[in-house]
Amino acid sequence: MKKSEVIVVGAGIAGLTSAAILSKRGLSVTLIESHTQAGGCAGTFKRKNYIFDVGATQVAGLEKGGIHSRIFDFLDIPSPEATILDPACIVDLNDGGNPIPIWYEKSKWISEREKQFPGSQRFWKLCTLIHESNWIFANNNPVLPIRNFWDFSQFLKALVPSNLVTGILLKSTIFDLLRICGLSKNDRLIKFLNLQLKLYSQEDIYNTAALYGSTVLQMCQQPHGLWHLKKSMQSLSESLENSLIKTGVNLIFGQEVNSITFDDLNMCWKVSANSRKKSFNYQAKDVIYTAPPQSLLKHLKDPLERKKNYKNRLNNLPDPSGAVVFYSALKKEHIKKTFSNHYQLVSKEFCSIFVSISDDGDGRAPKGELTIIASIFTKTKDWFDLDKQTYLKKKNGFMKKISLELESQFDIDPGKWLHRELATPLGFEKWTKRPNGIVGGLGQNPDIFGLFGLSSRTPFEGLWLCGDSIYPGEGTAGVSQSALMVSKQILASKGIENFSL
Ligand SMILES: Cc1cc2nc3c(=O)[nH]c(=O)nc-3n(C[C@H](O)[C@H](O)[C@H](O)COP(=O)(O)OP(=O)(O)OC[C@H]3O[C@@H](n4cnc5c(N)ncnc54)[C@H](O)[C@@H]3O)c2cc1C
Repeated sequence: MKKSEVIVVGAGIAGLTSAAILSKRGLSVTLIESHTQAGGCAGTFKRKNYIFDVGATQVAGLEKGGIHSRIFDFLDIPSPEATILDPACIVDLNDGGNPIPIWYEKSKWISEREKQFPGSQRFWKLCTLIHESNWIFANNNPVLPIRNFWDFSQFLKALVPSNLVTGILLKSTIFDLLRICGLSKNDRLIKFLNLQLKLYSQEDIYNTAALYGSTVLQMCQQPHGLWHLKKSMQSLSESLENSLIKTGVNLIFGQEVNSITFDDLNMCWKVSANSRKKSFNYQAKDVIYTAPPQSLLKHLKDPLERKKNYKNRLNNLPDPSGAVVFYSALKKEHIKKTFSNHYQLVSKEFCSIFVSISDDGDGRAPKGELTIIASIFTKTKDWFDLDKQTYLKKKNGFMKKISLELESQFDIDPGKWLHRELATPLGFEKWTKRPNGIVGGLGQNPDIFGLFGLSSRTPFEGLWLCGDSIYPGEGTAGVSQSALMVSKQILASKGIENFSL
């Protein structure tokens, strides 16, 4: 039985970040990952001469003062090399109007949106006011949702007077803001917002919490911005792994955690994992669990029987989305000139397709070639329980339809593809161990966001949740904020107060 102060389950960005912070602060940490590499949904895989980003392709929070950047400074390691995305994305509503470039430069974006959505400035100004208030609060590192007095004290410390005003909108949606601004019938703006919000909050305007939506709608602009990593997304994980190695984290790959129980005799958690039929046991006072909370139903069986309410809550979590992702490569000359690394396209077949195109020479493809990744949301249950032939037929159908969409949008000759393959929720389940291949976190509607979400502090002392289902939500920046929050809570429980970056 191997002992440490903290066990972290999962080496996605949430697990790597929390392990790195706690270990840097002097705690002994064991990190257990089922895959042979780190990164999870923000990892990569290699095929022929290409490196494909599995899920995440753009990163928020790398600017000075951004969450990744603050964490890298604290860990005393360099941030991975990255360039700002300008425009962050070009959204093509395919409605006969001009595509919408989402510019990084604020003034350019203000005039673009006035051109694209005349009369909408009131709405954007309101979002900016809410966002600015949110941002000061988030940077003060609140603990949410509140579960005890200490959490409450951190929440109070983070509050600024403007939060009391925006707090009135706690239960409002983005649609409510549109209504306040007299824009509830502006179809083009609504179509645009629905596309963008689905990407960042898994919900549309009618269900995205106003406080969350206002912030994600401003992430592409100064002083924030989205970044394109050189080489691949893996460089984010590699930087964090370097920190783990420096501080002596016991980093274990290729072992899948299969049960978490409380050892009453030694008053600590026992985590069991297996690899190729061999079993391994680990012991710690604190466990950070970064797999989706739905997986606890499988891993925490005995303790959950004693907390039926919590078990019911986990059982009744809303169904998150799945993703189908198309990974491809082409010679640069075989795709029409592009003006952004990212496109979001309205498609009759799939509602929306999100496309990520590498830069020539950025490390993802040989010089003169590009990787193109296209992802769509899907219902996970549509992919399971199919016989092999039906599954393959469905998969081939999606492959053809996505190819056709890209060929028509980017003038690609169908004979010129150098590589094409598709991942379905089955592939995501295998890669990330996410049950049914669910990706992203819980939809950020007013009943789940912030104060009302699933807490990092579970009803079991010493068992903590972290990752994209926990405050403040998904994306590598979101899960890093969640990792910082859980690290603060654990340090405080050990008497190390006032920890901040
Ligand atoms: C298609 C797609 C596109 C996306 N695009 C973006 C984007 O452009 N920008 C962005 O910021 N975010 C994006 N995201 C979201 C982002 O990738 C995730 O929110 C984030 O990476 C989640 O990190 P995590 O550490 O919480 O979870 P994960 O990445 O899922 O990591 C969890 C880790 O735990 C491991 N694990 C699970 N169960 C066990 C077990 N039993 N034992 C041991 N290990 C286990 C898994 O193998 C995995 O490595 C995208 C996601 C997808 C799927």
